[in-house]
Amino acid sequence: MATMAQLRREARAAAEARGHALGKFPSVPAWAAAMGGSSTAECDTCGAWVQVIAKPAPNEIGIGGSAVAVNCRKA
Ligand SMILES: [Zn+2]
Repeated sequence: MATMAQLRREARAAAEARGHALGKFPSVPAWAAAMGGSSTAECDTCGAWVQVIAKPAPNEIGIGGSAVAVNCRKA
């Protein structure tokens, strides 16, 4: 299973591939990640967001959000 740190790296790479300047993910306590916690970061340029879920349900995905779906709107 992917760890939260792995998911964050993948989410960051996916967002940056779309031109986003992703800000920091806030730290999530290990116990929260173990409970299936999620964490969200936003693009500093356009405000698009990406969310990672440590233990996605069968109908969820581990990485989602507008920052991995659309390219950055650069000024
Ligand atoms: Zn952006």
